[in-house]
Parts: sequence; C-alpha cells; structure tokens
Amino acid sequence: MRSHAATKGPLIMRARFGRYVVCCLAAAALAATASAQTRYTTVVIDPGHGGFDRGGIPGQRVPEKMMTLDVSLRLKPLLEKAGYRVVMTRDTDVFVPLGTRAAIANSYPNAIFVCVHFNSATRSGANGIETYFYSTESAPLAASIHSALVGGAPSENRGVRRRGYFVLRRTTIPAVLIECGFLTNPTEAQYAQSSEYRQKLAQEIARGILNRPALATRTAYTNRSSRVDVGLQPFLDQRFMRESGTKHRRHKTSTTKKSPSTEKKKVSSEEQ
Ligand SMILES: [Zn+2]
Repeated sequence: MRSHAATKGPLIMRARFGRYVVCCLAAAALAATASAQTRYTTVVIDPGHGGFDRGGIPGQRVPEKMMTLDVSLRLKPLLEKAGYRVVMTRDTDVFVPLGTRAAIANSYPNAIFVCVHFNSATRSGANGIETYFYSTESAPLAASIHSALVGGAPSENRGVRRRGYFVLRRTTIPAVLIECGFLTNPTEAQYAQSSEYRQKLAQEIARGILNRPALATRTAYTNRSSRVDVGLQPFLDQRFMRESGTKHRRHKTSTTKKSPSTEKKKVSSEEQ
C-alpha cells in the first residue's frame, strides 16, 4: 500500500531539491559578483597627459601632467606590495596617445584600468573630487575608489559619474577615471603640491582598489565630506559621446551639474 507519505515523498524531495537549486544559484551569483571584483591580477595605471600635453587649462600654473604622474608612481608600489602586477601607460613625462593607452589596457584581460587625473576650471572656486566610469562592470570599482578617496581627502565629494570619455569607452576591462581635485582651486592646488598629500591620495586609491575599509583615523587631513553618501549618479550626457578618432583631443565643454551641490563648471582640458 502506498501511503500519503510515500506519495508526498517525491514532492518533498522536489521541494527540497528546488530550494537547494535556488540556494546554489544564489551562492553562484554571489560568487560571480565577488569574483568579478577580485578576479583581476593586474592594475594598469594611466597617469593623465604627459609630454607636450600639460593637461588642465591654458595658463594653469600647476601642470596636471606632473601631478598625475607623481600620484601614479606612488600608487604603483602600494599595489605591487599588495600582490598586483602593475603596468604603467607611462612612467616618465612623455605623451602617449589615448588609443595607445586603451590598447595597453586591453592587452591585459585580467586587469583593471585606473586613469589618474586632476581637474581644472576657469572658475577658481570649483573644487572637489569626482570619479568616472562607463561600463556597468566598472561601477563597483569606481564607487570603491571614490569612497576611499573622498574619505581620506579634505576635498568636496562631487560624486561618481558615468560618462563616455574615450579611455573609458575604448577599454574592455573595468576602467575608472579619477579626478583628484582642482589644480585651479587655490586650496586644492596647494594640497596637490604637497608630496605628503599626493602620497595620501595614492594610498586612498590603493585602498579603493583593494576594497578595504577606510582608515578609522585620519591624521593629516580633516574630511568635510565624510558624511556625504557616495551614491552612483547615473549621469550620462550623450553630447560628450563620440566614437571617432584616436587622436588626442583637447575639447572644452561646459555643463551644468544636476546634483544638489550644483555648480556651474567648465569641464576642462583632456576629459578623454
Ligand atoms: Zn586630466
């Protein structure tokens, strides 16, 4: 005689198996997310500008190209110490075309691409740190680096933004472009000219790449922006999306920010 239990048995087993499958799928999804963030073994560091391309805007006193190189050269050993292979798109004051920078990045499939820049604007009051990404898979990296950077620097938090800069569009690996503050802002330019501060920036970028929590204590610098949540801002201005050309361009565009901390700003220089 077949009992109810006997007939229910397979149903229960199916239900349990179903839950098992769901659990496995969930675990696999979590594992995939985790591996997506940790699978890379190489970091390609891209110090913005170089050579005849000083970066920034005409007449800018502090050359961006030297600041980006210095922070990048400080970032390199920090990442190597953490076990990453590091590739530099440039390690001296030379000009490297944007297409070459993207090609270098794309030749390392297990890498992430980190472009280091400083910002500039015709209005000296413009200040703050902002981080850009383009592909969806780059968003977590952008958020992590930005969070570390604004947590460790005294600059305003201008947010994480999605924008189609050349080097972000043309890279096939997770790619992030960091604007470490405005060299046209007297306060931030002063900070940037301090080697101690540039070391701090490198340390925070490294922390963001390693996805480590921010330091509990910040010794050298106060942080006015730590209370600000770093939310992803799905800002995408199609006017800046261009598909043609590997030639280095310097184009000025102006845009009005849409965040509450809106300030009209001339987006300057390279903005690749
Ligand atoms: Zn730049």
